[in-house]
Amino acid sequence: MRYDKNHQYFSFEGMVDMEFKIGVIKGDGIGPEIVTEAMKVLDKTGEVYGHTFSYTQLLMGGASIDAYGVPLTEETLRQARESDAVLMGSIGGDAKTSPWYRLEPSKRPEAGLLALRKGLNLFANLRPAVLYDELKGACPLKEEIAARGFDMMIMRELTGGLYFGKRSTEEVDGVLTAKDELTYNENEIRRIAKRAFDIAMKRGRKVTSVDKANVLDSSRLWRKIVEEVAADYPEVTLEHMLVDNCAMQLVKDPAQFDVILTENMFGDILSDEASMVTGSIGMLASASLNETKFGLYEPSGGSAPDIAGKGIANPIATILSAAMMLRYSFDLDREADAVEQAVEAALRDGYRTADIMSEGRIQIGTAEMGDRICGYIR
Ligand code: NAD
Repeated sequence: MRYDKNHQYFSFEGMVDMEFKIGVIKGDGIGPEIVTEAMKVLDKTGEVYGHTFSYTQLLMGGASIDAYGVPLTEETLRQARESDAVLMGSIGGDAKTSPWYRLEPSKRPEAGLLALRKGLNLFANLRPAVLYDELKGACPLKEEIAARGFDMMIMRELTGGLYFGKRSTEEVDGVLTAKDELTYNENEIRRIAKRAFDIAMKRGRKVTSVDKANVLDSSRLWRKIVEEVAADYPEVTLEHMLVDNCAMQLVKDPAQFDVILTENMFGDILSDEASMVTGSIGMLASASLNETKFGLYEPSGGSAPDIAGKGIANPIATILSAAMMLRYSFDLDREADAVEQAVEAALRDGYRTADIMSEGRIQIGTAEMGDRICGYIR
């Protein structure tokens, strides 16, 4: 065997066996249950395609508070950085009953997540919104719109814009006045635009860049830089859309979208809108990426303390997050396709966890859903 720096082992038969180091934050509530199933699916995929995934268990959020008194330690951050990617369940507990929420805000579980995202320099957030044929009944849109289906990826800038600008509240001429600054520089726009075009190349080769260029200077710069980046991707179609129009189009004709690229606040709002039109929180994956291939992969939902420990949580969002890890951090597109197709096959054959159950289907628990999906990996 010969080793190269991309973690590839070339066996004597010329086969490529890949080895990947994954940091695993199982998290709180349903986190450990759903992450266990995603690891099961990764292992099965590794077995079928000849890759090895090694896992380092890391503590963050409530579990880290219980063990170390803080939601994220320097050591955990270091270990996360040394991984090829991090797979995470959700963190946090019931705000009314959990002792974690009697701590000051900077020591609570969510502070660990913010510190982790910052410490890993994750500037691009990806949230796919897919309407599965089998779950069209859960879609709140009109039947004829749902019938066309949709499969889009919202790419939101995560570290700039209004949420990170200077803010102040002061009295001006006796009147209370609040101010928030929205700043983007061309480098921040360029790096996320490149990411969006790279991702479009792996999907439907269309980018819809969303802004408010009819009003905002930051949006006019956004548009200019996105066009410059687009010139390097002649195979990708670029269109610009104003944010107010995009909010309407998401409910009127979501099938038109492939990759939606947008700044922090617009992305915050549009990604929630897009996820809600899919109709089921247990199905929504997400990824946050930095400038390297590294990413943090987690379900969009929370730690669901109301159903924790009951073995009924839906693990599909976490399994689909693991598929995103295969695709975007490890460049294993074929393997990611296999996981996504296995999820679709399990749904097609009628298997459902309680949250997506409907009449005539077969209700199963968290672990059985993981097992079923493994059974469809080809
Ligand atoms: P939640 O997403 O945990 O739960 C909302 C509802 O959706 C609940 O009824 C829950 O049972 C259900 N649900 C969520 N995921 C599910 C799944 N996989 N399968 C089946 N049902 C599922 O939101 P919440 O109750 O507002 O928050 C609970 C905790 O999670 C809080 O501490 C919150 O801060 C935290 N949270 C963490 C993250 C994260 O780790 N990124 C994100 C959101 C919320």
